[in-house]
Amino acid sequence: MSKPKPVAGERQSALGSIVAEMIRADGPMPVDRYMALALGHERHGYYMGRDPFGRAGDFITAPEVSQMFGELIGIWCAAGWQMMDAPAQWNLIELGPGRGTLLADLVRACSVMPGLREGMNVHLVEMSPALKTMQSETLKCAGIEATWHDRLEDVPEAQSLIIANEFFDALPVSQLQKQAGAWHERVIGLGDGDRLAFGVASDPVAPALVPPWAANAADGDVVEFSPARDAVAREIGRRVTRDMGAALIVDYGHMRSAVGDTLQAIRKHQFADVLAQPGEADITSHVDFEALKEAVTADGAKFYGPVMQGDFLIRMGLKEREEMLRARADARQRIRLSKGAQRLVSGNQMGQLFKVLAVTHPDMPKPAPFNVEPA
Ligand code: SAH
Repeated sequence: MSKPKPVAGERQSALGSIVAEMIRADGPMPVDRYMALALGHERHGYYMGRDPFGRAGDFITAPEVSQMFGELIGIWCAAGWQMMDAPAQWNLIELGPGRGTLLADLVRACSVMPGLREGMNVHLVEMSPALKTMQSETLKCAGIEATWHDRLEDVPEAQSLIIANEFFDALPVSQLQKQAGAWHERVIGLGDGDRLAFGVASDPVAPALVPPWAANAADGDVVEFSPARDAVAREIGRRVTRDMGAALIVDYGHMRSAVGDTLQAIRKHQFADVLAQPGEADITSHVDFEALKEAVTADGAKFYGPVMQGDFLIRMGLKEREEMLRARADARQRIRLSKGAQRLVSGNQMGQLFKVLAVTHPDMPKPAPFNVEPA
């Protein structure tokens, strides 16, 4: 799919009108502020009042494709708990838990490890009131108690396993664009007919803001960076280093920092115009794993990966898990299982698009499956 052209005459969303009003009052808006509003505006933010997942929604995530995704992450957590020396009390933290599906599957799978479940304290970091309600329903059905927080910083300190699937891509990015040899912040202003339109701030930014790897960029090039992602990554690194813990991060993005505008909007399973209907489409950008690594290792944590999601799941035992589930499934369930497995690992679907990385306390051994070479 390529990025679409704006559709003329499409109605403005409620949030689009609010953003236009803000621009009229205060001038053009930086990209990170726009993204934060589009996703998290108190009343009209995309995540704040809806369930975006699944066939009837706008996009589907790995835990919604198959229970095996959460279960295999549960097995990873059981091994992680042992590597932390099986603490009597510990935190299982999930960032951006969506419908709560991953967590329910994960906890069911890791609870087979004797002693793990008794001292497990589940903490969820979630900004959306609608999704918090949904998560609490999912967890209630699964018999899991949890505490909700707005920010990772608010979670009590303890030995922790931290999980984040498709969380970082939703955190706001800033963009700079090179013009006539100088870097300017990319902003959203009002164009023809008062429609939202990209532009650049008139003054160049301070040279210290330009990432060093962008030195050779050409005029017109865009670079992205994300103080919001860096702050969460630093906090993950600080926590796993202070109290002996580990984190598993799954997202799509690039291994090396590089020039490019990766902001995208998805609506009803199709790419949409990023500016056309803020609040009505999911807006994300690719995660820069090199920047993430730098932030997450700042306090000395060890970093592993990224490995492709497909390789990660296969090395964690996807095939074996599928066989086990097939043995007690009916014909329809078997079809669902094999379609789900296929979708999670196949190269042209989620298997290569998504990457998995792990972060651990510096004294912990290298976690599976990062310690195994691909077959
Ligand atoms: N992990 C889930 C959902 C991914 S969508 C899954 O795999 O299905 C992103 C999730 O992060 C949603 O739950 C969204 O509400 C939450 N989220 C996005 N930005 C956030 C922020 N700044 N603070 C807390 N939660 C956020």
